Amino acid sequence: MQQVVSPVLPLEQETNPWEAQAFRFDQAAKKLNLDRGLWKVLRQPVRELTVHIPVLMDNGEIEVFTGFRIQHSVARGPGKGGIRYAPDVSQDEVRALASWMTWKCAVVNIPFGGAKGGIICDPKSMSQGELERMTRRYTAEMIEFIGPEKDVPAPDMNTNEQTMAWIMDTYSMHMRQTVTAVVTGKPVNIGGSAGRREATGRGIAVVCDEAMKHLNMPVEGCRVILQGFGNVGSNAAKLLADRGYTIIGVAEYDGGLFSAAGLDVPNLLSHRQRTGSIHGFSGGEAVDTAELLTRECEILIPAATENVITSLNAGDLRCRILCEGANGPTTVAADVLLAQKGIFVLPDILANAGGVTASYFEWVQDRMGYFWTETEVNQRLERIMTDSFNDVISYATSHEVDNRTAAYMLAIDRVAYTTKQRGMYA
Ligand code: GLU
Repeated sequence: MQQVVSPVLPLEQETNPWEAQAFRFDQAAKKLNLDRGLWKVLRQPVRELTVHIPVLMDNGEIEVFTGFRIQHSVARGPGKGGIRYAPDVSQDEVRALASWMTWKCAVVNIPFGGAKGGIICDPKSMSQGELERMTRRYTAEMIEFIGPEKDVPAPDMNTNEQTMAWIMDTYSMHMRQTVTAVVTGKPVNIGGSAGRREATGRGIAVVCDEAMKHLNMPVEGCRVILQGFGNVGSNAAKLLADRGYTIIGVAEYDGGLFSAAGLDVPNLLSHRQRTGSIHGFSGGEAVDTAELLTRECEILIPAATENVITSLNAGDLRCRILCEGANGPTTVAADVLLAQKGIFVLPDILANAGGVTASYFEWVQDRMGYFWTETEVNQRLERIMTDSFNDVISYATSHEVDNRTAAYMLAIDRVAYTTKQRGMYA
C-alpha cells in the first residue's frame, strides 16, 4: 500500500488517466503519511454504474450505447462532475475524472464529492434528435443514482446547456415536479447561473494573474499559447486578452494559428462561429499543432483533453508557466521533465476549478430560488480562485513539494479529515 510505482512506463500505460491519478494520489498520500485504512477508502470510487442504452436512430434502426456514471466520493457532499460524449470514453477515464472532481472540489473547498459520467458515442455524427433521445434514456437509467442531494451532473466535453436542459426535464418528469438543482450548467432561463458558461475560462485567467504576481512577471508582453478553443479555451483566451495578455497561438486538433504580434481574439471567435473552425483566419499564420505547443511563450494552456503533454514532448516545451485548463493534460512522466526544466505548473485540479465553483453557485441559487447578478457570481468566483491559489502555494512552500503534489495533498487531507470525522458505517 505504501509503495509508489515508478513513472517510467510504456506510453500506453503512461497515458492511462486512472494510472496517472492513482500514482499522484499514492505519492501525495505517502507524503501526508495517510492512515492505511483511509488510503484504501479514498483510492477507489464508491460507486460505479454502467448502462447499455437503446436509442432509436433517425434511420429507424435501434443502436445500443454504453454509458457510465461513477461516484468517487460523497464524503463532503453530493457527487459532482460533468458528463462527456466521445468515441473514446472508457471506464478508466471516467474513474479518473470522477476522482479528479473529488480533489478539485476539495481544493476550492466547496461542499461536494466527485463524480463523472460519459457515453461512448460519436456526437459529431449524431442528429439533435438522436442526442436528445440518448441523453433522456441515459438519465432515466440513472434516475435513482442522481439528484440534488446525491449526485449533480454538469457539462463536459461535447455536452452543453441543451444537454443539461434535457437531463433536467427528464429527471423532473420522473419526479413529477421541476427539479432544477439536479444538474448545473443549464440555460440561464431555466435555473442556470449567470457567468457559468465563462467560469472555467475566468478561473484560468485568475490563476494566471496570481501566478504572474507570484513569479514577479509583468502581464504586459506576456505571450500565451492555448491548445483547444472550445468553451474553456476560447473563454480563457478572451478573458486573458481583456486583461492585457498577448495570445500568440491557438492550436486545435487539426492545426493551429500563430501571430507574434497577437491574435485578435474577438475576431477569431466570430470567424470560428461563422465558419465552424479557426482555419482560414487572416489574422494569423497556419502552423502545425504539435510544433506550436513547443514554441517560446510565457504561458502554455492545454485546454482540451488528456495526455497532451507526455514524455514525448514535455522536454521540448519552452513556456515558463503551464496552466492546465483541461483535466489530466499532463502525464506523470511528463511531470518529471517539467520539474527538470523549472516550469511552474498550475495543476488541473486548481486551474480549471472555476467551472465547478460556478456550478456550486448555480446549485445554491437553484435551491434558494434566488439568483445573483453576473457581477456577484464573478466576484465570488475570483475570491475562491485567488484563495485556492494561495492555499496551494503555501502548502507547496511549507511542505517543500511541487504545486501538483501540494494540491493533491491539500485535497486528500480535507477529504480524509471529513471521512474520519463522519466515521465508518458498518
Ligand atoms: N466538467 C467540468 C469539470 O471537469 C465541470 C464540472 C461541474 O461543473 O460539475 O470541472
